[in-house]
Amino acid sequence: MQAAADPVRSVVIVGGGTAGWMSAAYLARRLSHLPIAITVVDSVEIGTVGVGEATVPAIRDFLAAVELGEPDVLAATEGTIKYGIRFAGWGGEGHGFFHPFGLYGVPANGVAFHHYWLKLKAAGHDLPLGDYCLATQLAERGLFLPPSSQPGSDLGVFNFALHFDATKFAHLLRRLSLANGVAHVDGRIVDVTRGEAGVRSVQLADGRTIEGDLWIDCSGFRSLLLGEAMGVPYVDWRHWLPCDRAIAIPCRSAGVHRPFTTATAHDAGWRWHIPLQHRVGNGIVYSSAHLSDEAAEGRLRATLEGEPIAEPNRLRFVTGHRAEFWAGNVVGVGLSAGFLEPLESTSIVLIQSALERFVALFPDRGGDPRLAATYNRQSVLEFERIRDFILLHYWANRRTGEPFWDAMRALDLPESLAERVEAWRAGGVFVRREWDTFQDPSWLSMYAGFGLLPERTSPLADQLGEEELLTAFARMREAIDRAARTAEPHADFLARQGRRA
Ligand code: FAD
Repeated sequence: MQAAADPVRSVVIVGGGTAGWMSAAYLARRLSHLPIAITVVDSVEIGTVGVGEATVPAIRDFLAAVELGEPDVLAATEGTIKYGIRFAGWGGEGHGFFHPFGLYGVPANGVAFHHYWLKLKAAGHDLPLGDYCLATQLAERGLFLPPSSQPGSDLGVFNFALHFDATKFAHLLRRLSLANGVAHVDGRIVDVTRGEAGVRSVQLADGRTIEGDLWIDCSGFRSLLLGEAMGVPYVDWRHWLPCDRAIAIPCRSAGVHRPFTTATAHDAGWRWHIPLQHRVGNGIVYSSAHLSDEAAEGRLRATLEGEPIAEPNRLRFVTGHRAEFWAGNVVGVGLSAGFLEPLESTSIVLIQSALERFVALFPDRGGDPRLAATYNRQSVLEFERIRDFILLHYWANRRTGEPFWDAMRALDLPESLAERVEAWRAGGVFVRREWDTFQDPSWLSMYAGFGLLPERTSPLADQLGEEELLTAFARMREAIDRAARTAEPHADFLARQGRRA
């Protein structure tokens, strides 16, 4: 069944936050050979959500796709390097572990490193996993090394992401988009007119009307087109992920730029610490059923490491997604399509993969339901995979005696996550699935970080004896250490990007 429609001649992006300008910059590049006009409509009056400062390494692919150089982005957004996330207090007060953007160790005789590590652990050798991961070492020592400088060995396989000022990032993308022919209209949308294919036009408060063939809804939590105009319902995941509020308070930077995000647990959620060059992004995420807004703000203020430089930004959200991400001629990108709480900094990568998927399925005519169906199936899977990974952080917690955390440990896991945990428990096996954002090393960092170990070690690891393994592990540790010693201080690297460090 093919939708009867004319060729697509115009794409209108509603919203000028991170999602809107990422969409504009990406589509302007990828569709540049087609006679398609791209317009962004947003409202300065309404503003943007104003948070979203930490990314995952895929951001580097996005920057390459839109032809932005990393040094330019670091300079324009007061950005810093991120090698992963430090989780503090999730396994109880004083406990911590690191989720790195890199591999652990090297396999031997076709057997994955973690099986040998588990075997040594079972034999009483408590070897810190982070000693076998270059990204962890760079993060903990405050160093910078570009991934490409360590070729040829799995030991050198790591990557980095960026922290950046979200407003400055949107401005940078806006400049780029306008230079690449995107039109911009500043106006508040007050009405949406529907047609046979979906949305036909939007009316602005000043009386102007904007028409379009395809619509990208980047209007934020309000979901003006996908949710309101198209009436697509929201799939609410609060029964799994009950945190529903956040407060952000940036403060002046004390000049220490740790190359990682910190996520510190508190009695009803967690706090983030994101170091930028000019300031530190701080925020508290919490369950409103377990903590009042006043108490949450007090808790955040008590932990700030510098002087606040803005009023608190108070946010409410519901973890979940729209039942359809693409309905008729409307595709939701960013918060309008769904939101997974920011524990693993996944919203921006979801924007990016939505755009990649949309271009891969780009219809030369208006909304084709067959393409939309594929898009929707893939989008739901991607959201579910990330939800499961985030949920593992909560479910595996070891904070006892706090109602929020006790309830999280007692949750009935979704089948998709329960199967992963059982396979790990039974034999140290990672279950891999289509549209996984997080790969084996990420799952290993969580299982090991929470002390969730398999019931028995793998017989595959028995092909190497304990002494042989200890020698091989010592060699790996030395190689990682040698590589880390070739790195420069993160602060020096930032200074070389032409900015203060
Ligand atoms: P918004 O920024 O809200 O933009 C919406 C746009 O729509 C605005 O331009 C607005 O003017 C426009 N608009 C709305 N209504 C109208 C109207 N009637 N007429 C005209 N224009 C209109 N993501 C990460 O990847 N990493 C993180 O570390 C991270 N941390 C987060 C922390 C919190 C507490 C929250 C809530 C989110 C976080 N996110 C994070 C998510 C990230 O902030 C968003 O994914 C990202 O900013 C994209 O937002 P958006 O562009 O979809 O929406």
